[in-house]
Parts: sequence; C-alpha cells; structure tokens
Amino acid sequence: MTSISRPILSIIVPCYNEEAVLSVSVHELLSQLEILIVAHKVDAESYLCLTDDGSSDTTWEIIKQLSKNNSRVKGIHLSANFGHQNALLAGLFSEKNHADCLITIDADLQDDVTVIEQMIDKFAAGNKIVYGVRSNREKDTFLKRSSAQWYYKLLIRMGIKTIYNHADFRLASRQVIQNLERFNEVNLFLRGIFPLMGFKSDIVYYSRADRKLGNTKYPFRKMMSFAWQGITSFNTSLLRLVTITGVVMFILSMLTALWVLIAYISGNAVQGWASLLLITSLFSGINMISLGLIGEYVGKIFLEVKQRPRFIIEEETERKQQG
Ligand code: UDP
Ligand code: MG
Repeated sequence: MTSISRPILSIIVPCYNEEAVLSVSVHELLSQLEILIVAHKVDAESYLCLTDDGSSDTTWEIIKQLSKNNSRVKGIHLSANFGHQNALLAGLFSEKNHADCLITIDADLQDDVTVIEQMIDKFAAGNKIVYGVRSNREKDTFLKRSSAQWYYKLLIRMGIKTIYNHADFRLASRQVIQNLERFNEVNLFLRGIFPLMGFKSDIVYYSRADRKLGNTKYPFRKMMSFAWQGITSFNTSLLRLVTITGVVMFILSMLTALWVLIAYISGNAVQGWASLLLITSLFSGINMISLGLIGEYVGKIFLEVKQRPRFIIEEETERKQQG
C-alpha cells in the first residue's frame, strides 16, 4: 500500500476538439509530474488520463499517439460529446481504483499547473479535497467577470454551497470519488456536489491565465445553460420562490377585491376595463412563470427517472507498466 505521503496521482484532463493545444499542455503537465516524482512527492506510477469527449477533430489520434510514446499517458475515448462535466466523471470513475488522489484540470492549461504541488502537500496533510481558487479575474472580460461574481452570490443566497471563484480544478482522494459515484443524478453540478459531500478540505490560490491555443469550448449559450443547470439541478428553492410569489399575489388580490367592493358600495363603481386588464394580464403572467418553472423541474424529473448513462467509453488505451 502506498503511503499517503507519496500517493499515486492521476491527472484527469477532459479534451474536446483540443488538437491545437493538447501536445503543448501534455508536455507541460508531464514535466510538472516529473518534478513531483523526482521530489518524492508523488509515486512514480502517477500518470495523466486524457479523456476525449467525442471530439470531431484529431484529438483522439493525438491522444493515442501520446499514450503510445509515453507510459505516463493514458487515453479514454467517449463515443459522443457528453459535455465537460460528464467527461470529468468518465475520467474520475474509470481511474478511481488506480490512484490515491485525482486532480482534474482543463486541457487549455488556463489553470496554473505549478500549484499541483501545493495540492499534493495539502493532501499529504490530511485533506481529502483541495479546491483550486482563482485569485484574479483580470483575464476575463468585464461581462464574464461581473456575471460570474453575481452568479456565485446568487447560488449562495439560494442555499447552494459553492466555493467562490472555484471552477473544476481540484484534487480529490480516491475515497471521495468512490462516494461521488453514489450520486446517481444525471444533471450533476460538480462544483456544488463536492462541498456538499463534507470531508476535510482546503484551498489553494492561483492566477488564471489566458487560453493558450484554440477556442473556448464554452460559448455564451453553453455558459448560460450551465449556469441555469447549476441553479435548477441542485435544490428546489426556485419552486419555493414560486410558492411565495403565489402567496404574495393572493394577498394582493384580496386587497384589490376589498378595494373594488368598497368602491362598489360607495357608488363609485366606475371601474374601467383598463384596471381589469392590468390585473388579468399581471396574473396570467405570473401564472405562466410559475408553470414554466414547475415544467422545468418536471423536465428534470423526466430526465432523472430515465437513468440514462452519463457517458459511454468506447475505447481506452493501455498504460504500459513502468520498470
Ligand atoms: N470540454 C469538454 N467537453 C465539452 C466542452 C469542453 O470536455 O463539451 C473541455 C475542454 O476541452 C476543456 C474544458 O472542458 O478542457 C474547459 O473548456 P474551455 O476551456 O473551452 O472553457 P472556458 O475555460 O472557456 O470556460
Ligand atoms: Mg478554458
């Protein structure tokens, strides 16, 4: 059994159409891994696992080649594009029994690979989860920065525990991943699940760089859908909001009724159709919103009860045993 002070580390890298940046990133990750191995911080069996999320370019060919040439590189090929979160899950679940701790990092290396060492140190000190947190956001556009900050605050308000400015750059122990596998939900929002799981955890800070090569795989539309996913997949606080709005509207309509009654009794019943129309439209608007929100959750239940697999592994490369 490997001691906790020299764990086998598996670095999981989701890759979707990353042919432009992949070789550079892998080179950088491997040299970082080498430094850690030489310093006896991690076991010599430590390796990279590149998960190809059904890319349509030559990403999988590159991964196969890298894996052939280097015993520290393993490749997994998903049969279709299952999305970033599911690609992470595929890597984590397939590697959880081969490593003592697992780190997930994006293929574009916007996250600082040199803090991996601090993550390992914190793991050695007994932490089961170590979150990578950005200390700067200057590299993001003003819109992305302010919307992200607003969003984190909203999540906290809604009772969804997340780590401020933490994305998916994190270390987790094998035990944590084994337990993560018991969360069967299809709409998984990893950033919310990890803090919910408990376990002793810590944070390392780093500054986020620009994407080195290639384009973002998160266009605005995908980003919005991911943000919405985070809010609606987690708990039912939005539904409660609908109920509260309903109650408030009910009270207001009672007051309106009272007002109409008084006007009628006092003989001033010249209520024009305008006010009527106003109220009717207001209420039908609120009804629509409420129904829409309920539909949102019904849709989610629909997806969850089907229990479809979250990813399908089509092919894997063998990792040559060292020594
Ligand atoms: N990614 C993926 N599947 C997808 C979209 C993205 O595996 O459907 C990967 C992508 O290759 C990258 C990471 O997820 O390693 C983050 O994507 P990106 O850097 O484009 O997002 P951004 O940093 O712009 O938010
Ligand atoms: Mg990126």
